Amino acid sequence: MHKKLFIPGPVDVKPEVLEKMATPMMGHRTKDASALQRRISDKLRTLLYTNEEILLSTSSGSGLMEGAVRSCTLKRAAVFAVGAFGKRWFEMAQSNNVPADLFEVEWGQPTTPQQVDEVLSTGKYDLITITHNETSTGIMNPVEEIAEVMKKYPDVVYCLDAVSSAAGTKIEVDKIGVDICITSTQKSLGLPPGLAICTFSKKAIERAKQVPNRGFYFDLLKLYEYIQKKDYQYPSTPSLSHMFALDYQLDLIMEEGMDNRFNRHIEMAEYVRDWARKNFAIFGKEKYLSNTLTTITNTKDISVADLNKKLGERGFQISNGYGKVKDKTFRIAHMADHKLDEVKELLTNIDDILGL
Ligand SMILES: *Cc1c(COP(=O)(O)O)cnc(C)c1O
Repeated sequence: MHKKLFIPGPVDVKPEVLEKMATPMMGHRTKDASALQRRISDKLRTLLYTNEEILLSTSSGSGLMEGAVRSCTLKRAAVFAVGAFGKRWFEMAQSNNVPADLFEVEWGQPTTPQQVDEVLSTGKYDLITITHNETSTGIMNPVEEIAEVMKKYPDVVYCLDAVSSAAGTKIEVDKIGVDICITSTQKSLGLPPGLAICTFSKKAIERAKQVPNRGFYFDLLKLYEYIQKKDYQYPSTPSLSHMFALDYQLDLIMEEGMDNRFNRHIEMAEYVRDWARKNFAIFGKEKYLSNTLTTITNTKDISVADLNKKLGERGFQISNGYGKVKDKTFRIAHMADHKLDEVKELLTNIDDILGL
């Protein structure tokens, strides 16, 4: 039996979108492939509020995260972490011999503009990475406020991990001064895993040109230059199946309306938060809660494994905690194409199972 997924990726995919994955193949060096990939990039520019270039990568989001920090750090990267995924970016820098320092806060807290300012005022760094929506702690960082600070540092390349938030919450990439905004298909976008997406600004391009060892498969500059020369075709064979599905899903997103989509996510988030406050407690700092998932402190010390087993029999799945709060918390994702009624149905079932 299919379980409705309330986990932070992979998410449920609409059957008609899933069917597009079975579209017959075409040559990846054809005019049709160029047109498909150009069309996707245009729609993604709208979704991410950017006029800059879009890069597509046949990998999960981690590929472009690694590519970004390697391709665009010349001097030293400042990695800001508010949970597990921020720390992972630091490991990516280290394992690629990219000089980097890690700036962590206590889990449940955000990265503040003051912290970013303090770190960048040392003049040691020419790239920063920020997690927009930390999927371990359920914190969404204040990127509009951070944008104000970043205006003081025009030479710093700004990378944003929006893997679990893009397409589920409004991110005005150009307005907030992000140079590389990264996401992947299996979270708020509502597609199967396997494709990653990023924006790539002129500042990032100029920086990458100065970096000598950018790697090969995730060399962002190479991807950029190739699609300019070859009319949106990529250096290696891309997952065309994902392209067919993404092209169609982006139409559905535009049909729903971006603001409607973002508001639907807020409605689902508020409903889950109210339920969590009433029955458990919210893990992260209230002012910075994510619109796409809620991390809940397990104050009742329930067995999340048992709960999930019983939910499974009823056709639902939620998520345990992640990283160092794995046993202290559990998570309910409310992203992509779920509707408020489905969230209500899930919570009613949890109430019933736990006798709440
Ligand atoms: C899921 C996730 C990632 C990793 O993305 P993949 O597509 O699995 O590589 C990175 N950052 C955040 C915040 C995530 O939620």
